[in-house]
Amino acid sequence: MSGLQNIKKLLEERLQFLCAKVEGIEGDLREPADPDFAEQATEAEADEVLEGLENSALLEISQINAAVARIDGGTYGECATCGEPVGEKRLESIPHAAQCISCASK
Ligand SMILES: [Zn+2]
Repeated sequence: MSGLQNIKKLLEERLQFLCAKVEGIEGDLREPADPDFAEQATEAEADEVLEGLENSALLEISQINAAVARIDGGTYGECATCGEPVGEKRLESIPHAAQCISCASK
């Protein structure tokens, strides 16, 4: 049980980090466009990169929230697809993994 609480703590710390990151990205994206056209093109490209980063952070946030819900619901570590154990090694590298390696690689 204490192991799970540790994982939950790690996930929550990661959530805070990701939320701060998304906020930072949002702040950058809201900056007014530069009146210089060449600058605008560069900014548009930078914005695309930022949006990509934001989307991947948002995706990870939703996966982590789901993992925290599985910890609370007592199903953490079970594959969401086949119900088999996800595996300790896999959870060590991806604590928010919802599927075992064989389902995830299908
Ligand atoms: Zn599975």
